[in-house]
Amino acid sequence: MFSFKNISEYQDQLVGGHTNCVDAVTYYLDSIILKKHLNAFVEVFKEEALHKAALLDKNRLEGLPMRKLHGVVIAIKDVICYKDHKVTASSAILKDFTSLFTAPALQFLLDEEAIIIGNCNCDEFAMGSTNENSVYGNVLNAFDETKVPGGSSGGSAVAVQAKMCMCSLGSDTGGSVRQPADFCGVFGFKPGYGSISRYGLLAYASSFDQIGIFGNSTADVRLLFSIMNQLDPMDSTMLPSKPMREILSGEKLKLCFFPQVMSHPSLDSEIKQSLNALMSSLTEAGHTISPVEFNLLDYVVPAYYVLTTAEASSNLSRYDGVRYGHRASGSTEDLDTFYKQNRSEGFGMEVKRRILLGTFVLSTGYFDAYYSKAQKIRRLLVDQINAIFKEYDAIVMPTVTATAMPFGTNEEDPIALYLADIFTVFANLTGIPALSVPLFKHSNNMPFGVQLLTNKRNELTLLNIADTLMQQFRPGRVALDG
Ligand code: GLN
Repeated sequence: MFSFKNISEYQDQLVGGHTNCVDAVTYYLDSIILKKHLNAFVEVFKEEALHKAALLDKNRLEGLPMRKLHGVVIAIKDVICYKDHKVTASSAILKDFTSLFTAPALQFLLDEEAIIIGNCNCDEFAMGSTNENSVYGNVLNAFDETKVPGGSSGGSAVAVQAKMCMCSLGSDTGGSVRQPADFCGVFGFKPGYGSISRYGLLAYASSFDQIGIFGNSTADVRLLFSIMNQLDPMDSTMLPSKPMREILSGEKLKLCFFPQVMSHPSLDSEIKQSLNALMSSLTEAGHTISPVEFNLLDYVVPAYYVLTTAEASSNLSRYDGVRYGHRASGSTEDLDTFYKQNRSEGFGMEVKRRILLGTFVLSTGYFDAYYSKAQKIRRLLVDQINAIFKEYDAIVMPTVTATAMPFGTNEEDPIALYLADIFTVFANLTGIPALSVPLFKHSNNMPFGVQLLTNKRNELTLLNIADTLMQQFRPGRVALDG
């Protein structure tokens, strides 16, 4: 039977004739059918995935050279444009909308012979932390189906967790790759802002959004990142490439942590204990790990929600039923009513809440009190990380305050859910890369990770440090059976 450990081993098996791409795709298609109730996929590209697999098998047998992602089966989040395929942001407003072009970041993967197996369920317009805001319904966490998979990229996380693909793409504006990765026990990687093209990623908050990667190993994440990390003239916010420092194997690391994070009242005591134990073992292994004061912690969530909702209110104005989006049936007397009807019917509750909030913080009279103030906080945070990375290789912290919660936990209290983003939004406010490493299992049987953050352009350092952690502490790694 087909089994997958990592891309490099899979490709060795292809070369050795022990497996083929059709077998791999068939295995994942069967798995998707078997686990359909998890609701991870919006659409499965069955025929074309099988067709491409057969073509790759034929080419390989004829001796054509294999490209870097030859036969690698990848799922994408329903916010990434793939020409001639539906992209709906899991929203009624984009029901049946078909992509007009392929996002360059995805095209880079296709050029390396990746096979795209389908697109994954998510919170509407990537707004949420539980995947409960999707027009397609909840995605279930395969570890415990009564618990949320996290969000907003819940479907992409579960697709990797429950072996429905080899790797997947998500988007991370405030933690939407790292948090579901933490809840599902897989790697979740957010590149630094400007490292992967955003063109063709449906925008939530443009100065925060990045396409991110879910995988089972740092090697797979590294491979996908190295392919997607290419300059794209269509995204003017990309950072020009410059060599990134790699940590050599065995090199002693200079790490830091924030005491304010580790003593935060919202942090689960067992997660705290595990991270403290991890930090002690790192010290014992000869690395240094020092406390660094971080007095801005209480400001990160408010600053994040002011700035992202402001950007969302502008980005989502294009869905008016004329340029894009659902058009209400029946005739209307005036244009204002027409727009209102289209948007009221098309958007879900959380998206409406954020558009209203964003419009409010940008309105005359409130702009300085909210938007400008939040921008100043962002500036202070950037100054702080610039100082930190002059001295340290990486920051270590929890990814989330607690493990995955049951469905409906914060139904009545969206603010409580926003506050739970406290450890992930920092990386997006400052534009630095961050990775959730799936190291631990809680006594409640759910997985959780540790988050590593490095300076901009230091994604490879980040992945190298994660390797060090995995080598030393891998015994705690949780694996899904079957
Ligand atoms: N939970 C965060 C939010 O709801 C993260 C969203 C994201 O990264 N797309 O905004």
